[in-house]
Amino acid sequence: MAKKTMMDKLVALCKRRGYIFQSSEIYGGINSCWDYGPMGSQLKLNIKDAWWKSMTWDRDDIEGLDASILMHPGVWKASGHVDGFTDAMVDCKQCKERFRIDDTEGEKCPKCGGEFTEARNFNLMFKTHMGPVEGDTSLCYLRPETAQGIYVNFSNVQMSARRKLPFGIAQIGKAFRNEITPGNFIFRTREFEQMEMQYFVRPDTAGEELERWREQRMRWYSSIGIKQAKLRFHEHGPDELAHYAAKAYDIEYEYPFGWKELEGIHNRTDYDLSHHSEATGKKLEYFDEASGERYVPYIVETSAGVDRTLLVCLVDAYEEQDERVVLHLSPAIAPVTVGVFPLVKRDGMPETAHKIAAALRRSYKIFYDEGGSIGRRYRRQDEIGTPYCITVDSQTREDETVTLRDRDTMEQERVKIDRLDEAINRAMAGWKAEGS
Ligand code: ATP
Repeated sequence: MAKKTMMDKLVALCKRRGYIFQSSEIYGGINSCWDYGPMGSQLKLNIKDAWWKSMTWDRDDIEGLDASILMHPGVWKASGHVDGFTDAMVDCKQCKERFRIDDTEGEKCPKCGGEFTEARNFNLMFKTHMGPVEGDTSLCYLRPETAQGIYVNFSNVQMSARRKLPFGIAQIGKAFRNEITPGNFIFRTREFEQMEMQYFVRPDTAGEELERWREQRMRWYSSIGIKQAKLRFHEHGPDELAHYAAKAYDIEYEYPFGWKELEGIHNRTDYDLSHHSEATGKKLEYFDEASGERYVPYIVETSAGVDRTLLVCLVDAYEEQDERVVLHLSPAIAPVTVGVFPLVKRDGMPETAHKIAAALRRSYKIFYDEGGSIGRRYRRQDEIGTPYCITVDSQTREDETVTLRDRDTMEQERVKIDRLDEAINRAMAGWKAEGS
């Protein structure tokens, strides 16, 4: 049997520990769709929460938005997606495998050496119909990016929040792309979530804002515990730039399947606002009271995938040691922060453990567990990535102390019950990713 790759093992761990399941599994599954289980859904929320807070709470120049997935079809015409959001694909005449041209090198099928068909352009937008009668007038698209919902609301947000430039609008939401070759687990799927921020600036400052934002976004990945050595920038060459972009960087991560994109940071110029303005006849301009100038703002966009970030968190945290598999997730995003156990199910230990769990629940996500050997319970939390475990034992009754175990070092210290909150807080504040 072929040796299991790290990705195979991670996919198995995700299923075993309730991170990610194949969608519609009991029906045989559906290609490239995934469901986030008890741990995965919490990790996803924690990632989104960290991003949202860094964008909207930690600063005073960015507003939030939650636009609808279905939009007027004219939006996608004006944005260039109806005509230009395509990937060129080829089929192998022999084995029938389908490829994105971007993923092929040379003229022959990499699987069987067969000949390719002529390249065809394939629009990645999912179509649907609004209302009971299917026809061209009811045609709608599932949004392929969240950004357009922000652009068409530029004036609404600017006026209602009484914003002066520069300011940003942040949004988290689902996007859909009928990808030709989805794969690599949750790396490329047809339904995914994006965390996008559009920063509206004076045109002559867009260049420096782009540089500023790419540094800030890189720092954010460190703040959620991703190892610096696994991240790098990739600047788009002229043939890689999207139709709307003047300059762009990707933040790339070294996945087990190679260096690939995690987030895109683009100078989108005035492309989007100008096109929406042209299509609707509505002015999407900004009047600068100080200088008396009127202009269409430039946009610097930071566009990250929630699912890809989650994959990066898992891959980056995964370690196989002699006796255990451990996820070194940052305590800031780990789905469970503290495991609470009674050593045995007697002598009042479960009651004390329940009391501790109830008190700590106000501040942390807690996992109470009293089944099986204590070693097995620790191993399970290590695989889930729970940074701290508290165990009530026979000494607890004598001196009101419990053990507090650190996931990464496996060291245990005795802590007074009424100092637990403080000890966990201190440990969380001092946590650093290995090598950072
Ligand atoms: P790729 O070249 O990998 O297809 P892209 O350049 O088309 O990505 P963008 O349009 O810049 O991606 O989207 C911004 C971010 O949204 C990406 O960096 C990625 O994190 C996420 N993303 C895009 N497409 C997908 C997808 N099919 N599945 C999961 N995440 C995606």
